[in-house]
Amino acid sequence: MPAKLIKGTEIREEILEELTAETARIKKKYGVVPGLVTILVGENPASISYVTLKIQTAHRVGFKEVQDSQPVSISEEDLLGLIAKYNADDSINGILVQLPLPKHINEKKVLTAIDPDKDVDGFHPVNVGRLMIGGSEVKFLPCTPAGIQELIVRSGVETSGAEVVVVGRSNIVGKPIANMMLQKGKGANSTVTIVHTATKHLDVHCKRADILIVAAGVPGLVKPEWIKPGACVIDVGVNRVGEKTNEKTGKKVAILKGDVDFDKAKEIAGWITPVPGGVGPMTITMLMKNTLKSLKFKLGIS
Ligand code: NAP
Repeated sequence: MPAKLIKGTEIREEILEELTAETARIKKKYGVVPGLVTILVGENPASISYVTLKIQTAHRVGFKEVQDSQPVSISEEDLLGLIAKYNADDSINGILVQLPLPKHINEKKVLTAIDPDKDVDGFHPVNVGRLMIGGSEVKFLPCTPAGIQELIVRSGVETSGAEVVVVGRSNIVGKPIANMMLQKGKGANSTVTIVHTATKHLDVHCKRADILIVAAGVPGLVKPEWIKPGACVIDVGVNRVGEKTNEKTGKKVAILKGDVDFDKAKEIAGWITPVPGGVGPMTITMLMKNTLKSLKFKLGIS
């Protein structure tokens, strides 16, 4: 029987509706809404389109959204000054600096200047440490891994005691999702293996997985025969493999493929995410969830 499709586009809608309702409830009771600032340096077209999507989503759920666009020539000192200003601004609960930054600015310095309690991307070393400790220490989960966990949980996949194999050990996907899945608690409590380019017998590890999370950035890396029948397969990979013309707009658009051979894998897996439309839509959704969480921490409500 073909796998159940885990549709990120549908789960995103479900979560955004929940966030909209909760934001309205908080506004009614406390008279405040979550505030999110997006700082964009320069005019990189990809960054502009990501930021635009973040702004539209923030408006949709009822947040206060501040868009701060700075010229590519801004100095590191001025950018740090801007972050200090938003760190001190009580109406701002989340600060997002769109990457990449121009070469003359030290990204690490800028990202660590963000108040960890407003770090809704979840990349500040303080939040990485909190995630490692787990439990009530955790404030903000990084957005893509948090989205992956939501997809698994909302699809009804059992995680407790499950063998989870994560392909990839990046700081933004592989390491955090592996860490999250091994924590004691709901939606986790799994036995976790991380594999990477130095791993021997990648196939043997993948074949053991009840939940296989693939974040390598290599199209078709995971072969269908590496998938355990009935497994949950989360394909994080987004690979441009060509271009096609959109029939409606006549514009060229990228052809995207995941790290898993989807057409064959869906005949073996129990659940599978498509690319696009699986993990992708979840990242900005979880950014909104983190921003609302930040306000709730401040108000002392859960
Ligand atoms: P990354 O930083 O390039 O890390 C890739 C990881 O995969 C590395 O740990 C690498 O191992 C491992 N890897 C690469 N080739 C491998 C192979 N042949 N066998 C085993 N392991 C291999 O990538 P990333 O930032 O984590 O992103 C991974 C993919 O997810 C990309 O396609 C990216 O576009 C996508 N992504 C999607 C979203 C989203 O949908 N919202 C968000 C983030 C990323 P080594 O450490 O040994 O080099």
